[in-house]
Amino acid sequence: MAFEGLSERLQAVLGKLRGKGKVTEADVKAAMREVRLALLEADVNFKVVKEFIDRVRERAVGQEVLKSLTPGQQVIKVVNEELTRLMGGEQSKLTFSPSPPTVIMMVGLQGAGKTTTAGKLALHLKKQNRRPMLVAGDVYRPAAIRQLEVLGQQIDVPVFSLGDKESPVRIAEEGVKRAREEGCDTVLIDTAGRLHVDDAMMEELASIKESVNPREILLVVDAMTGQDAVNVAEQFHNRLGLTGVVLTKLDGDTRGGAALSVRAVTGCPIKFVGTGEKMNALEPFHPDRMASRILGMGDVLTLIEKAQAAVDEERARELERKMRTQQFTFDDFLEQLQQVRNMGPLDEILGMIPGLSQAKELKNLQVDEKQLSRVEAIIRSMTPQEKQHPEILNASRRRRIARGSGTSIQEVNRLIKQFENMKKMMKQLSTQGKGGKKKWRRG
Ligand code: GDP
Repeated sequence: MAFEGLSERLQAVLGKLRGKGKVTEADVKAAMREVRLALLEADVNFKVVKEFIDRVRERAVGQEVLKSLTPGQQVIKVVNEELTRLMGGEQSKLTFSPSPPTVIMMVGLQGAGKTTTAGKLALHLKKQNRRPMLVAGDVYRPAAIRQLEVLGQQIDVPVFSLGDKESPVRIAEEGVKRAREEGCDTVLIDTAGRLHVDDAMMEELASIKESVNPREILLVVDAMTGQDAVNVAEQFHNRLGLTGVVLTKLDGDTRGGAALSVRAVTGCPIKFVGTGEKMNALEPFHPDRMASRILGMGDVLTLIEKAQAAVDEERARELERKMRTQQFTFDDFLEQLQQVRNMGPLDEILGMIPGLSQAKELKNLQVDEKQLSRVEAIIRSMTPQEKQHPEILNASRRRRIARGSGTSIQEVNRLIKQFENMKKMMKQLSTQGKGGKKKWRRG
C-alpha cells in the first residue's frame, strides 16, 4: 500500500513520544531528525522537507506543547496539522461554469493514466447527477480513442470522437458543440500525451486551451514516479496554468513523495487520487484525511463514504429483515460479499480503520482476495434452488458444486458449515433481542 514505509517510520518515531509524561526540547529535536530522514527517504522534495521540519520544530518546542499534560500527543497533533497544511489544508473541489457545459481538459504524459482517469471522473460526475460527455482528443497514442469508447460504454457515458485524422483543436471544439446540442453539462477532453514534456505537446495543449476555454485543466500524474511527477507538474503548470492535479496509482507501493510535495512545490492542489484500475477507483483528495492515514490515525470518513457508495440502503434494510426472520440465503450471502468487495481491496479498507494499521496481528495479514473469489465461485455453482434452500445440499450435490467451481469438496463443506453457523448465530441474536427489541433496532 502507498506510504507504507513512511507511515511505519513516522508512527515509530512519534510513538516513542506519545507515551512520555515529560518531553524535552532535546527529545523533540531528536524526533525531528528522524522525521526528516523518513520524509527524505519517502522521496519528498528536500526543500519541502526543510520547511516542514522547521515549522514543526518551532511549534513543537513551544511552551504550550512541552508544558501541556500530554506533550507527546501534542507533538503528534502538530505533525498532523502541518502534514495537512503541506498537502493544501482544505479539500480543493472541482468548480463548474455558471453557464454549461463546463469544460474539463485532461492533460499529462503517456501512461500516467489520463484516459482511465477521464473515464473515472465521468463516472464520478454521473453519480452526482451530472451529464458528462467524453471527448477523444488523444490522436497519437494508438488505441487511445478505442480505449475511451470502451470505457464510455462500460459506464454508459457518451463519447465524442472524430477518429485520429482531425486536429485535436477541432475535435475539442466540435466535442463541446456536440455536448451543448445534446444537453451534456460537463465535457471531459482527453488529450494526447508524450513520453516526455516537449514543445510540440505544450503548443498543442495551449491551442486547445485557447479554443475551448476550459474551466478546469487537470494534470494526471503517476504517483509512482515520485519527484519526476513533481517536475512534470511544475512544467505543465508554468506553461498552461493548471487548476488541479490527479495523482494516479496510489494503490501501488509509491513512497508518497509526490503526494506530499506537489502542492508545496507547484502551488497546485491535488483534487483527486486514483487507487486502482477499475472505474470506481477514484477518490476526492482530502489533505486532512490523508495526513491521518499516514500517521496511522485512520480515515473513518472515507470509509463511511465508500460504504455508502457501495451499499444500497434499501437492500441493506431488506437483508437485515431477512437475517432477523431466518430467510437469509446463499444469494443474499453472495450479494453481501460483493458489496464489501465493491469498497475496494480489503487491506486498503483495513488501513482506514483507526488503530488497525498499527495492530501487530494485521502487519503480516495478507487479505486473501483469492479466497473470496473461491467462495464466490462455489456459490455461483449452486442452482437457484440450492441457493434458496441450502438444506438440500447432499453429498452428490456438493461434489458437483466442487467440480463446477474448480474447488474441493472440503472447501464446499467448510463454506456450507460457516453459512449454517452464521444462520445459527443470527437466530440467537434475534431471539436474544426479542425482549428488548426496541433497544436493538435502528431508527
Ligand atoms: P494514458 O496514456 O495517460 O491515457 O494512460 P492510461 O489511462 O492508458 O493508463 C495507463 C495504465 O495505467 C493502464 O494500464 C491503467 O489501467 C493504469 N492505471 C491508471 N490509473 C491507475 C490507478 O490509479 N491505479 C493503477 N493501479 N493503475 C492505474
